[in-house]
Amino acid sequence: MILRTHYSGEITPDLDGKEVTLAGFAHETRDLGGIAFLVLRDRMGLAQITLVKKLLGKEAFKSARTISRESVVVVRGQVKIEPKAPRGFEILPTEVKVLSAAQVPLPLDPTEKVECELDTRLDARFMDIRRPCVLAAFEIESAVLKSLREYFYSQSMTEVFTPKIVAAATEGGTDLFPISYFEKEAFLNQSPQLYKQMLMSAGMDRVFEIGPIFRAEEHDTRRHLNEAISIDLEISFADDKDVMNILEGAVAGAYKYVAENCTYHLGVLGLDLQVPKTPFRRITYTEALELAGEKAGVKMQWGDDLDTETERFLGETIGEHYFLTDWPSSIKPYYTLPYEDKPEVCRGFDLMHPRMELASGAQRVHDYNMLVERIKEKGLDPDGFEFYLKAFRYGMPPHAGWGLGLSRLVMTMLKLENIRDAVIFPRDRRRLVP
Ligand code: ATP
Ligand code: MG
Repeated sequence: MILRTHYSGEITPDLDGKEVTLAGFAHETRDLGGIAFLVLRDRMGLAQITLVKKLLGKEAFKSARTISRESVVVVRGQVKIEPKAPRGFEILPTEVKVLSAAQVPLPLDPTEKVECELDTRLDARFMDIRRPCVLAAFEIESAVLKSLREYFYSQSMTEVFTPKIVAAATEGGTDLFPISYFEKEAFLNQSPQLYKQMLMSAGMDRVFEIGPIFRAEEHDTRRHLNEAISIDLEISFADDKDVMNILEGAVAGAYKYVAENCTYHLGVLGLDLQVPKTPFRRITYTEALELAGEKAGVKMQWGDDLDTETERFLGETIGEHYFLTDWPSSIKPYYTLPYEDKPEVCRGFDLMHPRMELASGAQRVHDYNMLVERIKEKGLDPDGFEFYLKAFRYGMPPHAGWGLGLSRLVMTMLKLENIRDAVIFPRDRRRLVP
């Protein structure tokens, strides 16, 4: 196998005169008769390959000139500083090899010269991701995950995995995908919530999980998918304020890491990433209602969930990340802890980006009797939660945690229009393939 010695992005002027081997795709070919150009693209950028008959030999020159676009090629040659080339250098090859020829026509144009419908792009996602601006989001997403994991480890947290095939709904809702599991009915899990709480009773104290959640929601929006990656965290002997601090540290830390380490991919996206300042502003649900009522005349009753219009108004007014705290107990899940002196309000919070919700969290109910009551109040049957409730009968530390949507974090960070641009193979109401 001919190994690449460098990525295109690693070619610098001090390599002038050195022999290198590049490997990638034939991004573009231009034939000017006696001289021809091949632009090679790999995941770090583009390189101009100048094909010269004398260096390559007659036969090799002839076949190199006719390489079909997007074929997989390996090029060995000398680096030459060339101010007229797009990146200030060219490669003068002595060998050009096609490892895999691309058929024509292509399902879409990876050179980004031609606009393309989202469905066409997703149908040929492998080729869509060859486009540098599409790839950039996924390279940055990986950097976000690296930064989050390092941050969690630095907070002495343990990474865990909980089952995705489950027997009961986290919140008893209807948004579940049923699957057949031998002779039983089972579901794809909506959230690791109940399991990570059980790990608090297991004495694991500080856990995080990065994994898929499945929601059979019918809606077709730019911020919902039916399969998403959730970053979940749960901490014992912590309250809502403690885990909000960790959440803003995680988000601001991810921005900082990307700003410092992903300059090439941010450049491809034309972004100058601003790291959000911490602490994020905290406003209560009641303050949010007042603000929206006063300034925008939004008519909402205390106890209503915030509608999209109110969320948009708040986002525009505040203009940066903020926490919405102290929600009505009636609209947060049963495991959210109500205030002792004011049980109609609870210690639940949402982390908001001006464009959308990024995370939900809370201090949790850890008292067994209160939890059973809260489950009943929500019209659910505690018998269905026995496996979970059992963990609250033999000593359960007070605890708090949150769940953060990875794709929403990335799409807001990178100003992507649609969550589908932050997921490699998205799953929505209409899409199960590829
Ligand atoms: P929303 O109100 O925006 O539908 P949610 O309150 O139902 O979200 P949670 O149950 O609080 O969502 O889940 C925690 C986080 O997981 C959300 O803040 C979001 O970032 C992410 N998330 C939840 N559902 C989806 C989805 N269908 N697609 C993408 N991300 C999601
Ligand atoms: Mg939520």
